[in-house]
Amino acid sequence: MSASLELIRQQEAQLLVSTYDRVPVLFERGEGVHLFDCDGRRYVDFLSGIGVNALGHGHPAISAAITAQAGRLIHVSNLFYHEHQARLAAKLAALSGLDRAFFCNSGTEAWECALKLARAYARSAKKNGAKPKAKLLVMDNSFHGRTLGSLATTGNKKYRAPFAPMLPGVTFVRFNDVADLEAKFDDSVCAIGLETVQGEGGVLPASREFLTRARVLTRESGALLLLDEIQCGLGRTGAMFAYQHYGVTPDVVTVAKPLAAGLPLGAVLATHDVAAAFKPGMHGTTFGGGPLACAAAIAFLGELAKPEMLEHIRETGAYFKEQLLALKARHAEIVDVRGMGLMLAAELRSAEQAKSTVAAALTRGGDGYVINRTHDTVLRFLPPYIIAREHVDGLIAVLDDLLSGGNANA
Ligand SMILES: *Cc1c(COP(=O)(O)O)cnc(C)c1O
Repeated sequence: MSASLELIRQQEAQLLVSTYDRVPVLFERGEGVHLFDCDGRRYVDFLSGIGVNALGHGHPAISAAITAQAGRLIHVSNLFYHEHQARLAAKLAALSGLDRAFFCNSGTEAWECALKLARAYARSAKKNGAKPKAKLLVMDNSFHGRTLGSLATTGNKKYRAPFAPMLPGVTFVRFNDVADLEAKFDDSVCAIGLETVQGEGGVLPASREFLTRARVLTRESGALLLLDEIQCGLGRTGAMFAYQHYGVTPDVVTVAKPLAAGLPLGAVLATHDVAAAFKPGMHGTTFGGGPLACAAAIAFLGELAKPEMLEHIRETGAYFKEQLLALKARHAEIVDVRGMGLMLAAELRSAEQAKSTVAAALTRGGDGYVINRTHDTVLRFLPPYIIAREHVDGLIAVLDDLLSGGNANA
């Protein structure tokens, strides 16, 4: 380990709240799909900072937008107007089929806002004298973020338990189990909330039947369908929004990770009717939707709107998935391959094997490969949208070697 990394490691161990178990790599710069560490070693990025750097590193359109805006205006607060929020909202509305946007700074904040919107909408829609609907139906194995509301709706006891008691009125449904959804749905439900493709839970797409049923149940009863596309939205799956693969439109969708191509920005998109449940003063944020992040997001959506971009994601994703399936056919250690577009996963037989594969891909000789393990046994791939077949071939060769027991000192 280099001396500068070792020093930073020691300082962080003394000075930071110990929430992260970091991988011992000190990245210094990035270029396209590559990252470089403090020793000048090159890595191919198959994670994009957990789905954030969707155009890779140092993309000229993003750098130019950030540089220009940083010199003009970085922050004004939401007390005033600036030129970018309405422009960005218009683009997001056109892409999503929804009408209005609220901007915040992160995924969990976007989901918090969606939950608040569901409760407020139910209250505003209730008949005189009736009790407002308040029950939230959310999914086992889901992930919505770390703040208390999002955490209360996250279907993983390990994350919730240390912080109990949780927000009341939350019921968990088995993901993709239509009978369980129907059994738990009733008139007191104000919203069904789910990730269209579960990300942290191991890259599990909602089934067509399940998502369609959730849409019908909510529509019939006046409850809302909230979709969390913080990880799977904005091109990741080869559609602008993952729900577009299903022909379903939610009442509310949340986006964040890739939205500002690396700067923190989240958004909640809702129909006019639902958005009207919030009146001035009911919700807000100091930083959310600032000029700098919005300028970056407009540049990002400009790139994403180029017709070849989604096509490239679909084609490269399909090629990548084929290669993973071929790898599965050669290695019994891989028990499943799944995902859509450039949100893919290979589930391994054991957690140890997944852990050692991720570590070895990173530290082997030659280019390192940055991949990630989620849900213990799942290798997750969230490469930048600009990844090419040759990079996929490189990764597949490394995985092939590692799964054959090679230490891959190529
Ligand atoms: C990452 C993620 C979140 C939380 O986003 P943060 O920006 O880390 O708060 C919420 N939902 C999903 C589906 C995510 O992938």
